[in-house]
Amino acid sequence: TPMTLHERLARCAEEFADRPMVITDDRTVTYADIAAWTERLADGLVALGVRPGDRVGLVMANYVEFVPLKFAISRAGAVAIPFNYLYRTDELRYVLEQSQCTLLITMTGFAGLDHLGMLDEIAPGWDGGEQTALPELRGVVTLSTDGRSREGVGSVEDLEQLGREHPGGSADRGADQTPGPDDVADILYTSGTTGSPKGVLITHDASQRTGYASALTRAFEDGRRILFSLPCYHMFGYVEGLMAAMMVGGAIVPQTAFDPGRYLEGIERHRATDILCVPTMTVALLEHPDLATRDLSSLRAILSGAAPAPVWLWEKVRDTLGVDEIVTGYGMTEQGGAMTLTLPEDPFERLAGTVGRVKLAGSAGLPGTGDLTEYRTIDVLTGDPLPIGEEGELAARGPTNMLGFWRKPEETAAALDDEGWVRSGDLGYVTGDRYVVLTGRSKELYKSGGELVMPKEVEEVLSRHPGVSQAFAVGVADERWGEIGVACVVAKPGVEVTGDELIALCREQLARFKVPRRVVFVEATDLPTTPTGKVQKYKLARMVASEEP
Ligand code: ATP
Ligand code: MG
Repeated sequence: TPMTLHERLARCAEEFADRPMVITDDRTVTYADIAAWTERLADGLVALGVRPGDRVGLVMANYVEFVPLKFAISRAGAVAIPFNYLYRTDELRYVLEQSQCTLLITMTGFAGLDHLGMLDEIAPGWDGGEQTALPELRGVVTLSTDGRSREGVGSVEDLEQLGREHPGGSADRGADQTPGPDDVADILYTSGTTGSPKGVLITHDASQRTGYASALTRAFEDGRRILFSLPCYHMFGYVEGLMAAMMVGGAIVPQTAFDPGRYLEGIERHRATDILCVPTMTVALLEHPDLATRDLSSLRAILSGAAPAPVWLWEKVRDTLGVDEIVTGYGMTEQGGAMTLTLPEDPFERLAGTVGRVKLAGSAGLPGTGDLTEYRTIDVLTGDPLPIGEEGELAARGPTNMLGFWRKPEETAAALDDEGWVRSGDLGYVTGDRYVVLTGRSKELYKSGGELVMPKEVEEVLSRHPGVSQAFAVGVADERWGEIGVACVVAKPGVEVTGDELIALCREQLARFKVPRRVVFVEATDLPTTPTGKVQKYKLARMVASEEP
């Protein structure tokens, strides 16, 4: 049954009352405890003046407090905006301005970051009640993780105390003031890989559905414990971690940063059954010296996402970690989490070469609620549907679709069509047996002399040179050709390589229009990346455009 996030929590608190919901090294908090805590915080938010439809920003690492705060925002009828807590001042300024949040809940003392100090720069005077940079912002609450807090700023404990003093505030609302399952619960910002981050409007129902579908791909039964350090401001941690656990009465074991030694220790200590990883994390776990000495016998499943991983890695995961449920997936914020997942019975070749199966018109899809989402491939330029097997842009339609982007009508119109299809911006094709193969991003395509170039094709050729560590092909505006291809190359230390050599290599192996006109060598540390480490090609293109040939 579709329900709001806080209704789901209340339901879970009845059904799973004394089961652990959040487990950390210091404490175990049950479903009933989280629900009661949520209620106090929600009453506190209402007493503080939060009204239905208000937007409450949450800059919070994977602390226990994240969970009741997140649900309390929903319970108060407001929209939660979990921000990336690794943002630096300018990034934070952008999302605070763009989101127009009315209350900000943040933390002090996390990883040497000073969020209140950033706020001083962004909105001078925010703590004195008079500031003009963020006109909608009416208050700031902080969670002090190092015992320090700032004079005059409320803490999360104060918020809870306020709720104790004004009980019932979040319950006493008329029906027209209460959000329903199909209303917006969250605004989640995209990673900002292809442009400024966009605030995706996600309904209460969507994250529960995707979480449930994820849980069903594995043999979830009582007592699953999902350990992860992926942040809950992103779909991966939020939906595949928190929501998946909750939908089946499992627990999360959140960690605030990725440290392979601590991951292994956490699995042993808390008897974790599932871990969430991106491939680089999996490699770090497998290479860690503690791997041999930790008791990992509780581990049943690994969910890997965000990037492809090779067959040997899966074999190693099975043999070394003793995990038999290995699942990989592909998702995007606009689709409310994973759009495709492989199933544990899929062979490793599938895990390495595809991102899982999809539902096409008339066929079954992911087990559970993902079953309702349909997929198709469309022509990047015309938007027309393409036959199976042909490469194009992937599009999806279903109950987990976003409602749009917050305050970005043009981008919304471009991403969401009248029939309810969400364009992914990802290129790929669907095999005859319905597996999806990703090949690139549509925004990163460029046209040279009128011909469309797939950067991935050029990058693969460049990477064959032994002196190339990483290669990126980007389109740069050109008076004569419209756009020209520029190769940005990170050289391998100690191996000789020149631009002419690379161009010659491309001439040998690629049609003429695909051969980059210029090669620019860059340092790995100069690559523009999102806080999550994705290379931002649109910035790279700007960087090399301003550089003289
Ligand atoms: P922006 O939309 O702001 O440019 P983004 O697309 O990187 O940033 P997210 O929604 O966080 O923001 O990421 C979703 C994207 O990540 C997908 O559209 C896809 O390009 C990529 N992705 C997700 N899973 C995989 C995977 N398994 N393999 C390769 N790429 C993936
Ligand atoms: Mg995107």
